[in-house]
Amino acid sequence: MKTYQGKSVFGGVAVGNIKLLQNKAPKVEAGHTQDVRREKLRFEAARLKTQAKLKTLYHKTLKELGEAGAAIFEMQSMLLDDPDYLDCAYHLLEEQQMTCEYAIFQAGEYFAKLFGQMESAYLRERASDVRNVASLMAEALAGKWDRHIYTLSQPAIVVADTLTPSEAAQLDKSKVLALVTSRGSVHSHTSILARIIGVPALVGVNMDVGNVPDRALAIVDGEQGVFIVEPDEKTQDTYGRIARRERAALQGLQRLKGQKTVTAQGSRIELLANAGSLADVEAAIQNDAEGIGLFRSEFLYLNRSSYPSEEEQFAVYAQVAQKMKGKKVVIRTADLGADKQAGYFGIQPEANPALGYRGIRLSLDRTEMFRTQLRALLRASHYGNIAVLYPMIVSEQEVDRALALFAQVRKELLEQGIQIGRVEQGIMIETPAAALISDLLTPKVDFFSIGTNDLTQYTLAADRQNPRVEHLYNPGHPAVLRMIQMVVSHAHRVGKRVCICGEAAADLALTKEWVSLGVDGLSVAPPYILPVREAILKALNSPDRTVST
Ligand code: PEP
Ligand code: MG
Repeated sequence: MKTYQGKSVFGGVAVGNIKLLQNKAPKVEAGHTQDVRREKLRFEAARLKTQAKLKTLYHKTLKELGEAGAAIFEMQSMLLDDPDYLDCAYHLLEEQQMTCEYAIFQAGEYFAKLFGQMESAYLRERASDVRNVASLMAEALAGKWDRHIYTLSQPAIVVADTLTPSEAAQLDKSKVLALVTSRGSVHSHTSILARIIGVPALVGVNMDVGNVPDRALAIVDGEQGVFIVEPDEKTQDTYGRIARRERAALQGLQRLKGQKTVTAQGSRIELLANAGSLADVEAAIQNDAEGIGLFRSEFLYLNRSSYPSEEEQFAVYAQVAQKMKGKKVVIRTADLGADKQAGYFGIQPEANPALGYRGIRLSLDRTEMFRTQLRALLRASHYGNIAVLYPMIVSEQEVDRALALFAQVRKELLEQGIQIGRVEQGIMIETPAAALISDLLTPKVDFFSIGTNDLTQYTLAADRQNPRVEHLYNPGHPAVLRMIQMVVSHAHRVGKRVCICGEAAADLALTKEWVSLGVDGLSVAPPYILPVREAILKALNSPDRTVST
């Protein structure tokens, strides 16, 4: 029996056999040739084939896991059109007369090193994307895709050094019992994936993957961050009992379907789902969500070459509204920019994208794009119960401008005789500025939705994607809680509702906190609906509480 320690990404216990994915990078020979034309043609063929592959992976993942899991392929695909990357590759092919394989490898390494030295943690993480794209191109050249090693014949604990997004996408998610990697951070793609499919997962495990026996029995303890290979009988018994208890608990949660979400003292809390695709909306219905609290509309804008049309957006919003059968559907207007980019946006690289041209800043600057989205949303409102949510607000002026554009679009539609429903308007509170002036913002809108993901990173000055400051990133920090308390108190003073829609809404260790702060709703990823409902049913509220330091 061997026990390893890692960082926990998703809780729960899994017992099963190991499937080892040894994704050793192929050895690339330093090759040169006189036949430059042939190598350029091979490069072009590999590039196009890889782009097609990335598109397939994007759509497969979007369908299975939603936008959060799929966005990475859009980003990788953009690299293959990047003029700097292409200049570099063509220079190596033409001037240095490298073979196609060698040029792909060298160009990949050049850009990976460049990214690896960047100050922003987010950009540093892109080094692995560049290497991933280079190895996909190498596989395209070798014609390897049709016999990929990532098929699971039976349920297994997947163990790897690291899992690239394309490898993860090719796994049959229904057969993954747990994910264990020796590298990666809790914000890496493996981690996002694990949380979406809801399996126990560990990253940064102190093991040498080469020494882990394939097919051996193993245990993953997602709570304690422990990976046990070839457990002895006593350990098997202990974990067997825990796993059975967990299965029973999960089964037991099914009884909560159809129940109202009320605290032990009888306060009603709206329990909604976050969705980033139509597949997520299905999952929300399956898990008995009381509505959609955050529909991230960005997926409609990504992985394409021009803005989505009004008709295209209308079709999606109306479908969501209809599927939810009159339950509330809060659609957030495009929170583009920062890490959500497409080539056609034409946004120059920024030193601090999280503090840059994103969210409402971009929408208020590109009013045609914004008006198109508002028209689609308002038209769809006739088919259900739609509310609109504006992201990344920092000032009263932004809210005023968004509301004015909304009113103008609404008036135009009514003049055209188009039927529209009553649409509430809310804003995301995800910047300290918005929290601090929430008393000035409350009269303007119908509701607030607190984005703890960004509110935490901006309040604590801790990049949400940087593993080095992971220990500082804490939505339960008194500074964040005080912000939330202030927002709730300002909103309640004038009878407005407050929901939390960041990841922290699903953190069961914080459920009591949210209840006692008096929030009116929580919006969580679909697999968390029933566990959070159970936690709320047990939680007592103490409305006059103040946050301690
Ligand atoms: C948030 O910031 O908490 C949020 C819900 O928005 P996103 O995660 O999409 O930035
Ligand atoms: Mg946000």
